[in-house]
Amino acid sequence: MASGKTRHLLTEIDTLRKYGNKKIAVFKPRTDVRSGMNLIKSRKGDEDTAEELSVTNPLEIWPMLRAKESAAGCRFQVIAFDEVQFFPRDSGFFQLVNQLLNEGYDILASGLAFDFRGEPFGSTPDLAMLAEDRCMWMTAYCTKCGTRAPYPQRIIDGTPAHYNSQQVLVGGDETYEPRCDDHFVLPGRPMAGPDDASPQRKIWPGGVAATE
Ligand SMILES: [Zn+2]
Repeated sequence: MASGKTRHLLTEIDTLRKYGNKKIAVFKPRTDVRSGMNLIKSRKGDEDTAEELSVTNPLEIWPMLRAKESAAGCRFQVIAFDEVQFFPRDSGFFQLVNQLLNEGYDILASGLAFDFRGEPFGSTPDLAMLAEDRCMWMTAYCTKCGTRAPYPQRIIDGTPAHYNSQQVLVGGDETYEPRCDDHFVLPGRPMAGPDDASPQRKIWPGGVAATE
């Protein structure tokens, strides 16, 4: 969401490979079609190759990882994942990351915190808790006013998407813009008031919507 999260992930991968001599395997959810097949790509244009994983069965990583290690003739030390929000909470992705950690792999992961409804998105919040203080929240800025923007505003044909549209649209014509609490528009959101329903009031007490 124009916060530089994929660029940051790519920088970490590059630094660990170049200066940490780490063997890193990179994966992404198959749902992420925007970066191109078997690629993760930042808006700036940096990219890296990535193996694609099923979002409903991320456990398929095991045979893929073993095959990669066998081909490389050594064990990988770090496993990196981009766009982890596309792995649903009930997909087993969180448990998979725990298994990888228990097997001695270090994990890098990047994901969106909120979906287009301004609600927690897939496995990102769970992984953020697992990462504790090693979690870094990147900041995007509102396309309307330039203040801190936690929400990805989904726009379809120039119009804000309805609350009832699907959480993940695959290969759709929708676009996303970072928006602050004041400029985040979500027709059909339950609990009426755009201010009252906003999680930002709780999470960013210093945010623009916190004062009446
Ligand atoms: Zn704004």
